[in-house]
Amino acid sequence: MAGRRILLTGGAGYIGSHTFLALAEAGHDVVILDNFVNARRSVVDRLAQIVGRPVEAIDADVRDAEALEAAFRKGGFEAVVHFAALKAVSESVEKPLDYFDVNIGGLMTLLRVMEAHDCRRLVFSSSATVYGVPDETPTPETADFRAMNPYGHTKIMGEQILNWLSASDPRWAIGALRYFNPAGAHGSAMIGEDPRDIPNNLFPFIAKVATGELSRIRVFGNDYDTPDGTGVRDYIHVEDLARGHALSLDKLFESGEGHLVNLGTGRGYSVLEVIAAYKRASNRDLPFDIVDRRPGDVPIYVASAGKAAEVLGFRTERTLDEMCASSWAWISGPHSEGTE
Ligand code: NAD
Ligand code: UDP
Repeated sequence: MAGRRILLTGGAGYIGSHTFLALAEAGHDVVILDNFVNARRSVVDRLAQIVGRPVEAIDADVRDAEALEAAFRKGGFEAVVHFAALKAVSESVEKPLDYFDVNIGGLMTLLRVMEAHDCRRLVFSSSATVYGVPDETPTPETADFRAMNPYGHTKIMGEQILNWLSASDPRWAIGALRYFNPAGAHGSAMIGEDPRDIPNNLFPFIAKVATGELSRIRVFGNDYDTPDGTGVRDYIHVEDLARGHALSLDKLFESGEGHLVNLGTGRGYSVLEVIAAYKRASNRDLPFDIVDRRPGDVPIYVASAGKAAEVLGFRTERTLDEMCASSWAWISGPHSEGTE
């Protein structure tokens, strides 16, 4: 497929930066727009080093209509991949207005500007969290929406807005991708997940225990109805996930029609299995304590992965061991440190 000019909002973030590389590798001409609220500016330099040429990055808030206008006037974008959002579940409970403002306000501003510039190809970052506690595991895309917190609600609302928009005008082609649990880092070890505070998510938390930055892992509950009692998730290597975006864009351009798919592996691992795998990869002692369940946690999230295979030809290639090894190479290497 010929290279396209594509805007990545939130492109300096964890999934966005990996997707930048996947799209660049697929021959696209990619521009990042990010306000760096949750990313270091040095990510852009590191991406440039990896691809061996300058990377265009616009420092702007996705809610800033004038900045988006200017970007589109100059950019000539044929499609947008929209990552920019706030994503911490517990913070969303404390600050719901911030979450609706950025995740919904940002989406609305973007859609208005896209429409004004006749750009109607969009890939949207959705999440398995839209399923709440699903009735069925592995969970198919047909499962009901169930909001458990404001963050999850913003993803449901985002998908609904996009559904109504597509229904109103067939020129829109929108790919909604429901990510399961992204993990791991790029093979170069130059980019990876880089949380500024104490991480909420399991993988970055374990990584910081492995480096010695945090002392012990807390395992949130071992009395779930799962094989070892700890929570089960469908971890997907971030490079596989990134490739899913390239396939989604190809499909939008080829078919002119939208799609909605889960991006996961179809296989779940428990917290204890992840700790054991990370221990093998890092060769570090990873002490843990079993503590109370985390409020609002879902026992099992595993994707039904068949639709993504059928619609996009998407199949994951990387294992849990590769997620742990690449995460460790990144977190123990020189590039995960620094203030900028
Ligand atoms: P991230 O925080 O690393 O990336 C988001 C990026 O958006 C950051 O670079 C941040 O600086 C930027 N951003 C935030 N608000 C912005 C604004 N108002 N204007 C411009 N830029 C802004 O998060 P991520 O893990 O890469 O997630 C990317 C997307 O995927 C998000 O939409 C998230 O909700 C979704 N998602 C993530 C996960 C996950 O587990 N990481 C799972 C499912 C869905
Ligand atoms: N988890 C844990 N300790 C942590 C962070 C997470 O035991 O410090 C568990 C959590 O209860 C869940 C799994 O690890 O069963 C994945 O949690 P994460 O927050 O990474 O993803 P999410 O719950 O959003 O799918």
